[in-house]
Amino acid sequence: MNIAKAYAAFNSKDPLVPFQFERREVRPHDVQVEILYCGVCHSDIHQVRDEWDESIYPMVPGHEIVGKVIKVGKEVKKFKAGDIAGVGVMIDSCRVCNNCNRYMEQYCVEDMTGTYNATERDGITIAQGGYSSQIVTDERYVYRISPKLDLAGVAPLLCAGITTYSPLRYAGVTKGMKVGVVGLGGLGHMGVKFSASFGAEVTLISTSPSKQKDAERLGAHKFLLSTDKNQMKDADSYFDVILNAVSANHDYKKYLDLLDLNGKMLVVGLPSEDPKVKPFALIKNRRSITGSMIGGTKETQEMLDYCAEKNIVADVEVIPIQQINEAYERVIKNDVRYRFVIDMKTL
Ligand code: NAP
Ligand code: ZN
Ligand code: ZN
Repeated sequence: MNIAKAYAAFNSKDPLVPFQFERREVRPHDVQVEILYCGVCHSDIHQVRDEWDESIYPMVPGHEIVGKVIKVGKEVKKFKAGDIAGVGVMIDSCRVCNNCNRYMEQYCVEDMTGTYNATERDGITIAQGGYSSQIVTDERYVYRISPKLDLAGVAPLLCAGITTYSPLRYAGVTKGMKVGVVGLGGLGHMGVKFSASFGAEVTLISTSPSKQKDAERLGAHKFLLSTDKNQMKDADSYFDVILNAVSANHDYKKYLDLLDLNGKMLVVGLPSEDPKVKPFALIKNRRSITGSMIGGTKETQEMLDYCAEKNIVADVEVIPIQQINEAYERVIKNDVRYRFVIDMKTL
């Protein structure tokens, strides 16, 4: 029996508590990873609290996973025992559709399989995530990690990192472009780091005046307080690209107004309620809204290699697993700088 220790939510209201469950035995293409660190994404909170509907309980959240390979199946090519490896938001997909063939498995026509709060492709097994001692995953959905990097800081790259890297690359963010990042949380702070490293002029658009200094330290050139009407008016039609990483319900118009000709708002934040979009805010300057979901396996590896080359990791506060419920409350209160990461040794 391949037992994993974990923390799980049993419903949308009660705190997470210790839990045990069985992982599958390692198959020929599988990699078994002992989990060292797991990031705490706002998506964990949305799903634990059933804010996107149809949550599956008991739920072991966690999709920013870094650890050490402890066993590999006999057909595995990419890994051997002892390697450092990562698992992100997706653990499977159909592998035969057009999008899977393009390594854009997150857009699999039969839907990707999430790392948790999902049913695996056998139609029976409930996928359980990274707030656990180990995980067994097909090697296609496991990533190589440079051991040079700080591993606690690497964990958030598996979701916050790729979710911001992918749309910024897709939008062609480069030197000379004006990029606004809305929301300095887990995703937003990676968005600032990546936009700056791609050479753009970066502005943090925030509701928190206290984050201005941090934004500059993280690479932002300017700070725009979104609650200040005059500052927002001065920034009318200024940006080429806005990365919207807001977790709470809000009106898109406020940020659309800031886009210049052909400007794009890249939406990655997933609040529970549908936002209002005013068509007049879109037709002005021929603006568009583009959604983006994590990134495919090839691009995720590319992002991790880029981070190793440029020495980019997340800014993290490492916590013992016993503090997970308190950490959720602090994320909701906007009191995280800028990602909680669980030290899984404490499990
Ligand atoms: P987070 O760390 O909680 O950060 C969210 C940020 O939003 C906060 O730091 C805050 O920044 C800003 N904010 C909060 N309330 C706001 C409000 N009422 N109006 C404007 N801004 C507000 O969350 P996260 O982990 O980065 O996740 C952000 C969102 O992305 C979540 O909804 C998550 O589910 C989603 N997500 C999507 C994908 C995808 O594939 N698309 C992947 C991962 C996560 P300031 O203090 O600077 O204003
Ligand atoms: Zn996430
Ligand atoms: Zn597919």
